[in-house]
Amino acid sequence: MAETNYDLIVVGGGPGGYVSAIRAAQLGFTVALVEKRNTLGGVCLNEGCIPSKALLESSEHFARARHELKEHGIDVTDVKLNLKQMMVRKEEIINKLTGGIAGLMKKNKIKVFKGIGELLPKKDDLCRLNISDQQELTANNILLATGSEAIELKHLPFDGEKIINARDALSLTEVPQRLLVVGGGVIGLEMGSVWSRLGAEVTVVEMLEQILPQTDPQVAQTLQRSLKKQGLEIRLKTRLEKIDVGDKEITATLNSKDKEEELVCDKILVAAGRRARTDELNLEAVGLQPNKAGQLDIDDNFQTATPGIYAIGDLVAGPMLAHKASDEGVVFAERLAGQAATINYPGIPAVTYTWPEVASVGHTEEQLKENDVSYKAGKFFFSASGRALCNGTTDGFIKVLADPDSGRIHGVHIVGPHASELIATAATVYSFAGSVHDLAVTSHAHPTLSEVFKEAALAVNKEAIHA
Ligand code: FAD
Repeated sequence: MAETNYDLIVVGGGPGGYVSAIRAAQLGFTVALVEKRNTLGGVCLNEGCIPSKALLESSEHFARARHELKEHGIDVTDVKLNLKQMMVRKEEIINKLTGGIAGLMKKNKIKVFKGIGELLPKKDDLCRLNISDQQELTANNILLATGSEAIELKHLPFDGEKIINARDALSLTEVPQRLLVVGGGVIGLEMGSVWSRLGAEVTVVEMLEQILPQTDPQVAQTLQRSLKKQGLEIRLKTRLEKIDVGDKEITATLNSKDKEEELVCDKILVAAGRRARTDELNLEAVGLQPNKAGQLDIDDNFQTATPGIYAIGDLVAGPMLAHKASDEGVVFAERLAGQAATINYPGIPAVTYTWPEVASVGHTEEQLKENDVSYKAGKFFFSASGRALCNGTTDGFIKVLADPDSGRIHGVHIVGPHASELIATAATVYSFAGSVHDLAVTSHAHPTLSEVFKEAALAVNKEAIHA
């Protein structure tokens, strides 16, 4: 075998690509990974999940110190923001994690190439990849994991200054006085929360009738009320029609129910979705093209229409989530090795890291109704939890949807404190086809937030103790 011939070449070092490379190496494949940016970890580590969570945590401390410590009997005067230090901390976390992945590549003997991976036509049944016109590699299989990027709206082209995307919003050097966020999805609400906590006047405009579309509507309404209490203004069924960019400020024309209104702001964050990144792959060389959604179609083995070329993560259908990309990466490698691995897609949890947090797994009531699946719902509020009261975090509830006869859980929807952690148990019970009866006989430590989950499960059959 030539030195540049691999069992598998992975294009893209995000959570889909690097995790798949590691799993494939563990399974005995020779693996190369090609990444165009200087560090590994993809959008998630460099400009997505991790920096946003670092800033959410820091900004939450700031907001707590200003508004909540007094209630605990702690008098803190003169709380000041050191935004530069906040950003330094965020960068240190990114560097630590991306450096750690570089170490994992070495440990697993994965050869990393820096450059743009571009497909070449297959030759002698081997897949071929050109790296930034410098080098050519061949492989039996190529996995495309090139992820996604922010969608740019025609009337709102990004300039990195006044019209910004999430990446820019993670690195602002000053708190904008007035920030307009276009899009009430996960990214818009998380970034809007960060800058609102740090002092910006934040307005979020969302075209649809609820924030976090696809989420349980009661959960979305509860979150919206909490965000409003925190000072975010949210306008539903509102569209940003046009903007007039002046020297100092931007005048945005909003349209709601055919009424136009002007809103003056300093920056506009466009968080109107993400699109798969296929531009630099030279897909035509192997006879491929993106589907109508801009993604690649794949079969159960993650193989595209071209044998030997596979795709995972944000590049293919499904929720654009880091753990979905990683799960696909693992299952892809295991199937390549002949194992019968699969993914239970409804079992992939989704989380929004606002305050309170939102998390869900399984199906929503709307989906169950659409598919004529009978269910009963049980709900329990954090305001009745001793632990939530001690923590001062009583907004929200947990809703459990279960089969009326067997009690098997169809879905769990949480809006409340630490929802991102609570959902792990829900995902486990759901994935193992567990029921509300399983939760009823499981001892939950007192006082914990997890008791709310047990009570919500008991509430399905009107057996909650503290209701
Ligand atoms: P990516 O992470 O996009 O990685 C693809 C990599 O491929 C990139 O590094 C890119 O440089 C490289 N690449 C592209 N083309 C080429 C080429 N031709 N040659 C070589 N390299 C190439 N998800 C969560 O689950 N939880 C969160 O909390 C969360 N927060 C987010 C916050 C923000 C602000 C954003 C923007 C996203 C967030 N996401 C979150 C989504 C998550 O980041 C993505 O779903 C995830 O990164 C997708 O992984 P991936 O491996 O498919 O692609």
